[in-house]
This record gives sequence, C-alpha cells and structure tokens, in this order.
Amino acid sequence: MLSSSSDLDILRTEIEHRNPAQPEFHQAVREVLETLTPVFAARPEYAEPGLLERLCEPERQIIFRVPWQDDHGQVHVNRGFRVEFNSALGPYKGGLRFHPSVNLGIIKFLGFEQVFKNALTGLGIGGGKGGSDFDPHGRSDAEVMRFCQSFMTELQRHIGENTDVPAGDIGVGGREIGYLFGQYRRITNRWEAGVLTGKGPGWGGSAIRPEATGYGNVLFAEAMLRVRGEEMEGQTAVVSGSGNVAIYTIEKLLALGAHPLTCSDSSGYVVDEKGVDVHLLKQVKEVERGRISTYAERRGGSARFVPGGRVWEVPGDIALPSATQNELEEKDAALLVRGGVKAVSEGANMPTTPEAVRLLQEAGVAFGPGKAANAGGVAVSALEMAQNASRTAWSSARVEEELARIMTDIHATCHETADRYGAPGDYVTGANIAGFERVADAMLAQGVI
Ligand code: GLU
Repeated sequence: MLSSSSDLDILRTEIEHRNPAQPEFHQAVREVLETLTPVFAARPEYAEPGLLERLCEPERQIIFRVPWQDDHGQVHVNRGFRVEFNSALGPYKGGLRFHPSVNLGIIKFLGFEQVFKNALTGLGIGGGKGGSDFDPHGRSDAEVMRFCQSFMTELQRHIGENTDVPAGDIGVGGREIGYLFGQYRRITNRWEAGVLTGKGPGWGGSAIRPEATGYGNVLFAEAMLRVRGEEMEGQTAVVSGSGNVAIYTIEKLLALGAHPLTCSDSSGYVVDEKGVDVHLLKQVKEVERGRISTYAERRGGSARFVPGGRVWEVPGDIALPSATQNELEEKDAALLVRGGVKAVSEGANMPTTPEAVRLLQEAGVAFGPGKAANAGGVAVSALEMAQNASRTAWSSARVEEELARIMTDIHATCHETADRYGAPGDYVTGANIAGFERVADAMLAQGVI
C-alpha cells in the first residue's frame, strides 16, 4: 500500500529507472506524484498496489519509420511515434507534434499530461500523443504532403474513431490534418470523420477548434483573476510563442479589453507598446509562415524586435506561456514577479519549470497549470467528435458557449479540489488530484488490465 511520500519517492525512482534518458517524462510524473500524497490518506482505495504503476506505464507505445522524398528526389527517413497512454475514460485522444526535438520521452510526457487534462474536461476521452522528429520549417507544401502521407500509411493501422483520435500540436495544423485525413480515407476507403480532429470547416471540422486552446486559456486566466476580485479588462499581458495557441490567446485578450504586449519565436521576441496587432500577426505567421521580426518591420513605431531575448523580461499583469516545454525558468519567474505579475496561465504543455512554479506560488501568483488551463483545445476536439458522430455541425456561438462552460467547470473543479485537500488556491494540486480521481475511479472499476 502507498501511504507516505517516501513510498511515492521509491515508486518514482523505479519509474525513472524503467524509462532511462527521458527527462521530460520524469519531470511530468514527478510533478503529479508530488501532489498526490494527501489523496492516499483520504481515499485508501487509491493506494492499491499497482494502480499508480499502471497509470505511469503507457498502454501501448508505437515507433515507426517514416521514409519520404523531398522535391529533389532525395530520400529522408524520420521517426514516427504514437503513445497510447490510457483509455480508461474513452478512446486515446491527443495531438501529433512535428518538430526536430521530438523523441519518445517528449511524446510520453505529453501523453501523460494529456491523460489528466482530458479527464478534467469531463468529456469521455482517454489520453495519447504522437508525432515525429520531422521539421516542417522551410519545406514545400508538396514535401509536407508526402511526409504526412507516409506517416499516415503506418499510423492508420493503429487509429480509429473509437480507438485513437489524433489532432494537431506544434508543427501540425489544418494543412497537415488535411493531408493526413486524405491518406487515411484513401487507404481505409471509409469516410470516418471522427478519426482526426482539427479538420477544415466544410469537411467535418468544428467551428472554433483552431481558436479553442488560446481562447480557453484566457478564460481560465480570467477565472483565476475573478477569484482575486479582478477582471481581465485593462490587464497587460505577456504572451510567448506565435503559433496557433499564442495567436488566439492574443485575439481573446484583445476581445476582453486586455493589452497583449508580446509574442515570440525561436529567433527572439517582439514587444509592441500599442498592443499586438493580431491581423498582422496572422498574416506573417499563418499566411506567409514567416519570422516574427517581419511583424516588427511592418508594424513600425510601436513594435520592437529583440533578437535572442525572452518575453519574460517585459513586465505585465499576467503571463501566458504559449510556446513550448520548459520555456519559463526560475530566473524568468523572478523577473515576472519583480514586474508585478498576478497570474500565470499555461497555454503550452509544461512550459514552466518546477523551480519556476514554486517561485511563482511562493510569491502568491495565481498559477494555472497547462493540463487545466489549456484543456480548451482538446475539449473542442471532443465536441468535434460529437458533431462527427451525429453528422451535424454546430454554430460558432454554440461551440464558444460550450467552451466557456467547460473552462469555468475545469477552473471550479481545480479550485474546489485544492480546497478539499487543504491547498487553497493551488491549482496544480487541484488539477492533478481531480484528474487523477476520475481516471483512477475508472481504472479501479474496470479491473487489472
Ligand atoms: N495538442 C493539443 C493538446 O495538447 C490538442 C489535442 C487534441 O485536440 O486532441 O491538448
């Protein structure tokens, strides 16, 4: 029986030994295990031997070769992954990431986080994640298409609308989902819309899916501010990233009367005193697939490009890390605190290091962990699956209303659970325990499988 934090330490060490050289996976597991101790005292049934071991071991891990030809006829070989982590609550659900940094450990950390995140949505979805070390940057549409077709030629045998439903993540957007869906349909000869989410409008995609992660994160941040008696209107915001999550975070901040001051990419960041112009940002990043410096050049006077810099040196009332894992370190958190930050809400997955989270929480900053704050994306994916299953398409207004309700519920669940376990205001503990309880209950009811 697991009864103390030292039992959990032993388990964590065993998991680290069994999964060598996967630091991000270790980090994600550790962060969850550290917050679970009070649950075992309150609910002894969860201390059953084997439950946590099963929760930390993916149900299935698939690694495959992805050969493809570039526009000059040269053959490249990438590696493809799909980690089907946990299906106690529903079909595996989670995105695909195409980025040179992708390896098994990264996909496992993302899959592990996804299990808890998806449980928090309450929408009956298990957790999984996949991707490839393929770098879409600088590749032509035709090259991306051939890569996606090769990737799906293998992946298709493992997925299905009731089995495993991939979507996008870093490097995988509407273009890639289109090519992947086309190949799935061709190989299987099935119009199985619910096998992928993030599809285009008009062929099974849901309204608001591209916007959902960013919109949802701003709604989560707003809920945290309201607990402190504040509104979103008038707050200055520091946003990192310039992909899908960052763009729609900025759009929602503007809609609610806040002032998003920054955005970034791997070359540096832009600070725009007048507030980021989301139309120009979309033009540069979505239409032209260009660099962030182009935004500053075109915007003129109010915007400045800082090569190699990090957005966290800009003071703001709230911070929304929306780029990638471990992008906000302890020294960055110290800068944010010095700048008077009140709330940090994670649009990306695990963008804040554990040391930075601790520093923010100790300074009294409201901290929304990604598995709660960025769950709006996968939640609308689940709504897309519901629309596909009933062969209907909901209006934007309806999906937005559902998204707002889901984010309010997730915030309330995390807040209430943290209170219940004696950690008021600690959304990390609240999210981990609430997600854990839902998955654990289903796993216990379904037996040792
Ligand atoms: N990649 C997103 C996430 O991290 C969305 C996953 C999905 O829609 O399935 O939650």
